[in-house]
Amino acid sequence: MTILSKLSYALILLGLILLMGACSSTETVYLKKHHTPDGYVNTIPLESPAIGDMLGFAWESLTSDTKNIEYPTAQNDPMFLQKNTKKATITWVGHSTFLIQMGGLNFLTDPQFSERASPVSWIGPKRYTPPGIALEDLPVIDFVLISHNHYDHLDLATVQYLKEKQSQNPPLYFVPLGLKSWFKDIGVENVKELDWWEKDTFKGFAIHSVPIQHYSNRTPWNRNQSLWAGWVIENEQRTIFFVGDTGYSKDFKKIGEKFGPMDLSLLPIGAYEPRRFMESIHVNPEEAVKIHQDVQSRYSIGQHWGTFSLTTEDMDEPPRYLSQALKKANISESEFFVMKHGETRMLNPLFN
Ligand code: ZN
Ligand code: ZN
Repeated sequence: MTILSKLSYALILLGLILLMGACSSTETVYLKKHHTPDGYVNTIPLESPAIGDMLGFAWESLTSDTKNIEYPTAQNDPMFLQKNTKKATITWVGHSTFLIQMGGLNFLTDPQFSERASPVSWIGPKRYTPPGIALEDLPVIDFVLISHNHYDHLDLATVQYLKEKQSQNPPLYFVPLGLKSWFKDIGVENVKELDWWEKDTFKGFAIHSVPIQHYSNRTPWNRNQSLWAGWVIENEQRTIFFVGDTGYSKDFKKIGEKFGPMDLSLLPIGAYEPRRFMESIHVNPEEAVKIHQDVQSRYSIGQHWGTFSLTTEDMDEPPRYLSQALKKANISESEFFVMKHGETRMLNPLFN
């Protein structure tokens, strides 16, 4: 190739590059790695499940003899909870739903009070253990954390009930990116949408959205169109870490480096079998213990078990498996424990 033809070749190449740049300037630019044209992805992207795998899981669910259990609920004191502004408390409602009272505010995590975790009331995963406190007995809720849009974490009927009940003083919802429109469509406007690593503040609290490993969808057509997130909630007294659903990932070490040590982590321990389908999206108790260590948690409470039967392990297996995992990791069961549905514990002093 002569120098002249080399030069013209280089010019043509340069022209093409500039042209490509000009063309792409009219398209959406995705500045963050987890934002893609096909939706959001995990820090280490997961493959979408093959149709055969989904059918395989459906078949295993249908044919498994999973033991389902209705747990007795512990008595709490709704009158005290409604009036309390001084004491820091935590009440496990069931599944990933907690009522937390801190700094004079009341907040809920993934409020789900319905009979089913499903788009319709007559079919879909059924609740075995009733909510540990009735919706009508809740104190006035100041804010709500939503981890993602799956039906066992974001419940339309519950959000609508809170909207009616608190029409004069609606709770503020903190939701992952892309989920605000769902709230807008049902007339709920008091919503803050956060991307991973973004922070907001509210009445003495700093609220951070952090990456976890999961996915989102409410229909077969909107997979990963809204994000999923863990939440770190800090006030002067405490740092609390809430995770809805997650597979185990390196994200937790990073979260620990940035926000640890946590005073209290609320970690999922159920819905992990069969492993070959669930491993990437739902941790088992052993992995929950690793998260507890990664974020240097003083205390953790195991949740996402004993309420809905979503997968094939027996409903009472997660706490037993947690005990074994703790023993193996040489961690005391008073450090990482489960609560009874409806049980209230004091957060100040923290569990002692
Ligand atoms: Zn989920
Ligand atoms: Zn879930």
